[in-house]
Amino acid sequence: MILDNGAEVIIGLEVHVELATRTKLFCACPSAFGAPPNTAVCPVCLGLPGALPQLNREVVRLAARAGLALGCEVRLTSRFDRKNYFYPDLPKGYQITQYEHPICEWGALEVPLADDAVRRVAIRRIHIEEEAGKLIHEGDSLWGATGSLVDLNRAGLPLIEIVTEPDLRSPEEARRFLRELVSVLSYLDVSDLRMEEGSIRCDANLSLKPPGFSGALEDLARVEVKNVNSIRNVVAALESEVKRQRAVLDAGGRVERETRGFDEGTGTTLPQRSKEAANDYRYFPEPDLPVLMLDPSVVEAERERLPVLPPALRAELVGRGLTSKEAAVIASDPGASRYLARVLAEGADTRLAVTWMLGDLARLLNEAHVGYGASPVGPAALAELLQLMAQGTLSGRLAKEVLDRMFATGHSAAAIVEDTGMAQISDQDVLATEVDRALAQHPAAVADYRAGKAAALGFLVGQVMKATRGQASPDVVNRLLRERLAALAPSS
Ligand code: ADP
Ligand code: MG
Ligand code: ZN
Repeated sequence: MILDNGAEVIIGLEVHVELATRTKLFCACPSAFGAPPNTAVCPVCLGLPGALPQLNREVVRLAARAGLALGCEVRLTSRFDRKNYFYPDLPKGYQITQYEHPICEWGALEVPLADDAVRRVAIRRIHIEEEAGKLIHEGDSLWGATGSLVDLNRAGLPLIEIVTEPDLRSPEEARRFLRELVSVLSYLDVSDLRMEEGSIRCDANLSLKPPGFSGALEDLARVEVKNVNSIRNVVAALESEVKRQRAVLDAGGRVERETRGFDEGTGTTLPQRSKEAANDYRYFPEPDLPVLMLDPSVVEAERERLPVLPPALRAELVGRGLTSKEAAVIASDPGASRYLARVLAEGADTRLAVTWMLGDLARLLNEAHVGYGASPVGPAALAELLQLMAQGTLSGRLAKEVLDRMFATGHSAAAIVEDTGMAQISDQDVLATEVDRALAQHPAAVADYRAGKAAALGFLVGQVMKATRGQASPDVVNRLLRERLAALAPSS
């Protein structure tokens, strides 16, 4: 994105993803969300003197898994460091993180943009770190708070931080990057990815590169908007930063390197503090934990266990005849792609399956707020419905009605057709009787048709459909009507 003054928008993201483990990063406390305050705590995560951390093996596996999925190199040797700072949600006075030697480095995510373009975003690093506790402020606003409460249930939960290179060029690209990242992660079972519970949060960095600037992007004064908790807010924060920095430059000012926060109320960013430098944190190697050494076989085993991920899946689906839009929608959601795979495994036609999955089934799932994985109409049940259509037992219109009932009752398509007698009537003799009746009852329409008004045919088809409660096969009715009308003596 190049602004009209020639400046280019430069964005890099740091994405924090809470890992879905049963227990915390360095202690055996459960990672239960929503437990009563300060019940999931122990001397380690309370930071009591003398308590020693012990690394959770599962966290290492999940971090390596995420790194492999993002094409990173997984380091066989990495290390934990202390990041020292004071805040009431951090009882130890430091956060254990990986600073100099992160577990994963140098990956990339190919982000689909509009018109089949792709932006390759390099992943600089992925490191493991612990979560801080949660502060709850009493009163109307943070500034007017009458008191603050600390809940340390969250303290010590495992996170990975995924840091990109400054490769994104617009808030829209950032949105697409985050969407793609979330869909890749959703295939890995590494995180619940629940935004509203804070399991994924983002620090968004943005600078404006002046035309003709040829230095390193790292040297541009960037603003870091901290702790933004949804994709929509990241985009809003970045858009408002573009405007704000642009205005500062237009007024002849200089953008300060600083940390800002996003205010959801106004949709703008607010200054928090001038940017801290790394040495403000007095990073040093964590003396209570040994160097983290991985056996190469562990990493290889994890690589073997990676599922097919969205980029490969999209290519495969397009190869099966889906449009790139359809493939993108299905591949973005593991529930949807597993569902489709199972419908097709039942022998359903691909085009029919995709049309119904993304059409009527999607509508019902949306209304019920459930995903494909929890659909009351399972893949085999949908395949059966499609089969009844393919063999002519159900018209599209009837099938829609049957699907609604299947969704509401959990009954099979065959059972519903049987119970309600909703099958399509293709029986020539039955339909011929109905066609003759319609012709006899509507002589005016017959006359119109013979006088050249083609639309009268549609009216007559409609009459037969009505008489059969929509169950007549429109194809057969059409053919019979045309035959009958053609057989009448030509009108004078
Ligand atoms: P810090 O610890 O200050 O947050 P990091 O090195 O962890 O710094 O993260 C730097 C982040 O800033 C990365 O995501 C990187 O892509 C991004 N970044 C670096 N230079 C720029 C720039 N000129 N404009 C926007 N983002 C940038
Ligand atoms: Mg940062
Ligand atoms: Zn604990």
